[in-house]
Amino acid sequence: MRKDNCIFCKIANGEIPSKTLYEDREFRVILDLAPATRGHALILPKEHADDLYDLPEDSAAKAMRLARKMGRIMEERLQCDGLNLVQNNKEAAGQTVRHFHLHLIPRYRDDGQNINWKPGKPSDEELEAVRELIAR
Ligand code: 5GP
Ligand code: ZN
Repeated sequence: MRKDNCIFCKIANGEIPSKTLYEDREFRVILDLAPATRGHALILPKEHADDLYDLPEDSAAKAMRLARKMGRIMEERLQCDGLNLVQNNKEAAGQTVRHFHLHLIPRYRDDGQNINWKPGKPSDEELEAVRELIAR
């Protein structure tokens, strides 16, 4: 299903033009309009899903397979030195468009970008408490 007023539904389904790198029945891969680096791309499912939780499991697996395939092509054609996959879910995590997308960010030595976090220093007790909360 497509969602009214969702810009990525419109782009993924070709209603709004985009710089398309790849397309099949389920996905479109486009260049990001405000790229972090040269070749920064987005994998978009054609069916609307708000985020990773909303995406059918099979589509999630296919998106990762497609990331692997596109990453290899980009490495060869762009001669990049590395690749970051970034996937934001919900506003607190930096998601600005509520239609699942997987960022493919080619990295170049000395590209000046920084996809990092400030490392924490939890105690063993804190790590154990969170482990118990999540692990089953
Ligand atoms: P988020 O922050 O939600 O993970 O990433 C949204 C991304 O979509 C951003 O990198 C932004 O530059 C990109 N973006 C937003 N609107 C458009 C658009 O209309 N076309 C394209 N190609 N990219 C877009
Ligand atoms: Zn959508």
